[in-house]
Amino acid sequence: MNNKLLLIEVICPKCGADLNEGDRIPLDGMVVDTGARGVIKLSAYFGEYGIETDLNLPQGALVRFYCPKCEESLMISQTCELCHAPLASLEIKKGGHVDFCSRRGCSGHALGGFGDVDQMIELLNRITDTPIY
Ligand SMILES: [Zn+2]
Ligand SMILES: [Zn+2]
Repeated sequence: MNNKLLLIEVICPKCGADLNEGDRIPLDGMVVDTGARGVIKLSAYFGEYGIETDLNLPQGALVRFYCPKCEESLMISQTCELCHAPLASLEIKKGGHVDFCSRRGCSGHALGGFGDVDQMIELLNRITDTPIY
């Protein structure tokens, strides 16, 4: 499968701004424990866990995510199925939304990365246009 197909393009659910910067999605983050703020770059590739940040963000730390354009919170009231931390949510350009865990190191952190097969296939179909069976 061509990796390029798995790039998720997201927009802010609040202001509609295009948030992709190539294959990265830079968001404003605040570390809940320390109140430190900085940019956290998520990988825009489906299921990729890596993040880039200058913040001191130990494994297990919780982050609140904000839109870098409108400063609105991206947090939603649902919690992670794996670790029960609050989820953040972004809208997918092609329709629908993707939720991700706000805890560093949780595998729910990756976009679409909950390991729920039905959910993943549904999301893949949405971002690739061509149904995968
Ligand atoms: Zn926004
Ligand atoms: Zn989690």
